[in-house]
Amino acid sequence: MQTIDNYNFKGKRAIVRVDFNVPLDENFNVTDDNRIRGALPTIKKIIGDGGSAILMSHLGRPKSGPEEKFSLKHVIPTLSDHIGTDVQFADDCIGAQAEDKSAALQAGEVLLLENLRFYSAENKVKTPEEQEATREFAKKLSTYADVYVNDAFGTAHRAHASTAVIADYFEEDDRMFGFLINKELDAMDKVLRQTEKPFTAIMGGAKVSDKIEVIENLLDKVDNLVIAGGMTYTFIKAKGGKIGNSICEEDKLDLALEVVKKAEARGVELVLPVDQVLADDFNNDANTETASIMDGKEGFMGLDIGDQTIERFSEVIMNSKTILWNGPAGVFEMSNFQKGTVSIAKAIAASTSKGAYSLVGGGDSVAAVNKFGLADQVSYVSTGGGAMLEYIEGKELPGIKAIRG
Ligand code: AMP
Repeated sequence: MQTIDNYNFKGKRAIVRVDFNVPLDENFNVTDDNRIRGALPTIKKIIGDGGSAILMSHLGRPKSGPEEKFSLKHVIPTLSDHIGTDVQFADDCIGAQAEDKSAALQAGEVLLLENLRFYSAENKVKTPEEQEATREFAKKLSTYADVYVNDAFGTAHRAHASTAVIADYFEEDDRMFGFLINKELDAMDKVLRQTEKPFTAIMGGAKVSDKIEVIENLLDKVDNLVIAGGMTYTFIKAKGGKIGNSICEEDKLDLALEVVKKAEARGVELVLPVDQVLADDFNNDANTETASIMDGKEGFMGLDIGDQTIERFSEVIMNSKTILWNGPAGVFEMSNFQKGTVSIAKAIAASTSKGAYSLVGGGDSVAAVNKFGLADQVSYVSTGGGAMLEYIEGKELPGIKAIRG
């Protein structure tokens, strides 16, 4: 397999799948440039070697064709600033302009293509006709360049034209991952393959059903499985506790009991909350009380873990050598119910400073470490929530397979 470190881009045009799906404000200014910064090492390597880069990405979810609010031209000022050179733009990713601008690129120049998802061929791969359209689209994109680099981990679980299919149109020596995907794969391998024990996974968030496959796969690997957040209540109800108005998936009670049994059989310590913060409304100003986790109350819902739970979770985290965190411990978007999530983030940071390896992934846990200013105190923050979860489930990601084989 070709690697970006070993490749000399001198005189080559590289087409790079990046993830510039960034948030924009109402004036189309980029409000969070993390994803743009994530792509810089790869872009700088290409132009530093004396090559040129053609960048392609999606932005948002356009339904049918071009829409101003989803135009990638809005990221150009931020991107140009970061690269330190003026980035050119093709206002259609397919067609004469994109072809001409790609062909005219000189060493050190960068061209950004308009949103790939203005074409439905980038997405739809269900019917044979759609698959054919996708292949045609990918083939067209491939003609712009000599080499393909995939650096968009966030879309690696999608079998789209730009993330997977395009790789077929390049020789094995001329297709590779960028630095960002390499870092993501290294981080996941540290957690899943070169695991230093004890290994603790902390799974939070709203629903068990979203995470069940991850949980099942992790049961073969972890020493401790910490359950937090809304999904706790499906476990508590299944175990015969009172949950009042707390969020619960009634049809997943059996599944929760199965997880309990499997954990026991495999010698995994299943660490559930022992106490909670109850609220009489889903509102930051709701009346609150604390209660044992088994003692919910009608008219109240559990919106955060309690202090005893924080202590217990922190102890487990501090005694771990490998930590994986996905999903908040409570409704951390509301300041009165963020304490549990903040405490988990702080315990992970403290354990990391003592030598543990910590990987944080999934939209809300990433938002939490960023919100609390702890992102640089954990070992790695994944840029791809869905892709990371699928990788941990043990699934083959089409974007990874297309290059790794
Ligand atoms: P997920 O996308 O599954 O990781 O879930 C994240 C969401 O779960 C966040 O928006 C949290 O506010 C929400 N959440 C966490 N704990 C609870 C809870 N106890 N009750 C309701 N929602 C929760």
